[in-house]
Amino acid sequence: MAEKSKSHESTAHDLPDLHSVFEAQKRIEDVIWETPLVDSPAVARESGAAEVLLKLESLQNTGAFKVRGAANKILGLSDEDRSRGVITFSTGNHGKAVSFVSGKTGIKAVVCLSEHVPAYRVQKIRDLGAEVEVKGHSQDEAEEHYYQLMESRGMVPVVPFDDPAIVSGQGTIALELLRRRPDLDMLLVPLSGGGLLAGIAMAAKSINPNITVVGVSISQSPAMLESVKAGHPVAVEEKDTLADSLLGGIGRENYYTLPLIQKYVDQHVVIDEAEIEKAMVYAYIQHSLVIEGASAVGIAAIQSGKVAVAGKRIASVISGSSVDPAAFLKVLQKHVH
Ligand SMILES: *Cc1c(COP(=O)(O)O)cnc(C)c1O
Repeated sequence: MAEKSKSHESTAHDLPDLHSVFEAQKRIEDVIWETPLVDSPAVARESGAAEVLLKLESLQNTGAFKVRGAANKILGLSDEDRSRGVITFSTGNHGKAVSFVSGKTGIKAVVCLSEHVPAYRVQKIRDLGAEVEVKGHSQDEAEEHYYQLMESRGMVPVVPFDDPAIVSGQGTIALELLRRRPDLDMLLVPLSGGGLLAGIAMAAKSINPNITVVGVSISQSPAMLESVKAGHPVAVEEKDTLADSLLGGIGRENYYTLPLIQKYVDQHVVIDEAEIEKAMVYAYIQHSLVIEGASAVGIAAIQSGKVAVAGKRIASVISGSSVDPAAFLKVLQKHVH
């Protein structure tokens, strides 16, 4: 997509398409890794699925898929925009991804964080290459500081999901999946702001309209699902969760991920905390994988029987590995005897 405007100034919000996903794949190939797709026979057997495959974005560069979208956005900028530098305010995997890509390419990046973000996280983002601005007592105040800096320094915003370049970057996962396994019947994708699901659903359904794409939300923060039901963005109350990467709303104004999810996603399921714990333990016991709660929801959707899987060939996106060690240990202690 030829994207000139840096914000939502233009009135036409053309949705990204399969072509922009192929362009993204080419653009980001030196920065990301093609992640393994591993067979998970135990859950297939238990559930009656023909096959369950795990797409291990938890082993992606920086520990989550977010680097795909961030790389596509940043590497697609004009020379002029590159020289202005980029800015974001995410504490989590998106902040790491933006910092990593900018560090790798020598493009200046600023990540705005609140004073409450733990020091080890601040350090991790800084180590990857970005300049970190710690200011404000809450995420909202950090966001306010982000807007001020964006204006005063003229930096280019890199938002976490509602941007065609971000969506197209995340969609490259579908290209890897369907090139390896064109016979897949169903994809299970964790859902928060929807960049991951929108990109994968749009790309996969454009290649094979018969594939079933399922969005997996958490009961503690199902903002996109409630927005799909309402037909417009709605905010939901957020509660504590092991799947902290799935917290957050979809934006008061949403131009890309909500329309794409409305258009391409076949089905939605909602997973609770106990189901997330069980799926994290499964990944550890069966595969020696440490995955974060957000990554486990696809496995949980199968284990819980909330999605009809009998006889199907299924791929579940394991989206990231960034779990607090103490929280992970607690889950193991509770379930492993
Ligand atoms: C960001 C993130 C998600 C959700 O992606 P969205 O594009 O916001 O829906 C899922 N899992 C992990 C590990 C993430 O970092």
